[in-house]
Amino acid sequence: MTQNSLRNKVQNNRNDSRDNRGVHESRPHRKLEFIKDDIKEFIKSLPYEEPHYSSNKNVKYLDTEFGSVANIHRIFIDIRPEYKSEVNYHFFSKIFKEFNIKFKKPKSDICETCENFKTQISNAKKLNTSQIEISKLENDLKNHEIESKKFYELKKQLKSSTLNDSSQAVICYDFMKHLSLPITKTNLEYYLSKISIHNFGIHDLKSNKATMFLYSENYAAKGPNEVISCINYYLNSILDKNVKQIHIFSDNCYSQNKNKYLWAFYDHLVKIGKFDKITIYYPFPGHSLMEIDGDFGKIEINRKRTDKIYIPNQYIQLIKNSNLKNPYNLVYVNYPLNHNLKNDGIPIIKVKNYKKGFSQILKSKLNFCSNVKIVEFVKNDIKICVNLREPCNTSLEIYKNSDMNEIFEIINNLENAYNNYLPIKRNKLFDLHRLLKYTILPDNTIFYDTFYSNESPTSNINRNFLHNYIIKQNQSNSNKMSKK
Ligand SMILES: [Zn+2]
Repeated sequence: MTQNSLRNKVQNNRNDSRDNRGVHESRPHRKLEFIKDDIKEFIKSLPYEEPHYSSNKNVKYLDTEFGSVANIHRIFIDIRPEYKSEVNYHFFSKIFKEFNIKFKKPKSDICETCENFKTQISNAKKLNTSQIEISKLENDLKNHEIESKKFYELKKQLKSSTLNDSSQAVICYDFMKHLSLPITKTNLEYYLSKISIHNFGIHDLKSNKATMFLYSENYAAKGPNEVISCINYYLNSILDKNVKQIHIFSDNCYSQNKNKYLWAFYDHLVKIGKFDKITIYYPFPGHSLMEIDGDFGKIEINRKRTDKIYIPNQYIQLIKNSNLKNPYNLVYVNYPLNHNLKNDGIPIIKVKNYKKGFSQILKSKLNFCSNVKIVEFVKNDIKICVNLREPCNTSLEIYKNSDMNEIFEIINNLENAYNNYLPIKRNKLFDLHRLLKYTILPDNTIFYDTFYSNESPTSNINRNFLHNYIIKQNQSNSNKMSKK
């Protein structure tokens, strides 16, 4: 089959859903199937984002930096130039559509409720639905918008009403969208998975000072243990000692900020009298823009201006430079985030296993959690409310049986959550190894070695192979550089 006829077939495919299978000789058809398989293989290998609210497990999310299907098609042709004439955009995008892939917008831009109402309204208008029903939908949308603004109003109001009261703090926190490493600016980079650097940030709304907890994805995970460990350090070492009451604004991510472990931790702080009252406010998902996002935005702008990033220290420097007026407090999680893993003066906290400790005393399942908008911790009670406009009146029981001594015992004997670096998926290690060929690392860089330190013993051969390969590549790269 000539390339022309193949192209014709590709183009026919667009308009003609009938399959020509068996009409022509079988070999060209097989070739086409091979090409399709290669495209599918490539699409499967793209680095998808972890779902944040995981509303639909079948949808895969790609970072918006991939831009568009056209851009991904271009990347495919870059790495498989032999398909340049055969795989045009339409052919590629048709296969791409089979995968149910969405480009992930910043999470603050998407609200399922808003989207749902808007779709219903536009459908109702198309279908000539009665004006009464359309008005009802429009009214529901308007009410939802008013309701969702309450989160912002409360935040603003608490910030100003507590401004001169040093016993009250107003904070918000969240994880930043991860920072990737290394950034080589090669074409390869777009479809290889990279190392994620995590940043959990806490912003004090009254002083406008933010604290960033930074770690590599193999230092710790992104769950309740990490969130509680960071908050624990913040409350003990950074927050003003006069504070007795805290107002917290946070998004609804269950695995991080809205779970029984975090609630048990806050409850404990009030029970022991460290604070008189702690209140958490949760927004409607998608209406959760907070001051900490502004801090992350500054880092993001600075990151986009930076050309190549080979070692984590560069991110640390970049974050330090992102807000010179009111510099961020930086804290490392579990290990130093630099090329030689040496103490560089930035404090390091250890992630404790709160989840394991608290599991012994907490109920296995809590009802109502997803709708909860306010959780209030007072001396002898946890109260919840499903509406940001109303006072908390319903008590929430999170313990199997609340024996105070048990909780003290657990808190005082928490284990470290990890004894070693976390394992990284094999394909990511291979991708990393390919990317490291394009990096120039300073002497005594051992940061990347930590990714190979937790491999199973059976993979020693591979590990040594990869490791030596990387070292050789780096040496030859730096030789090339020094000759220039
Ligand atoms: Zn909404």
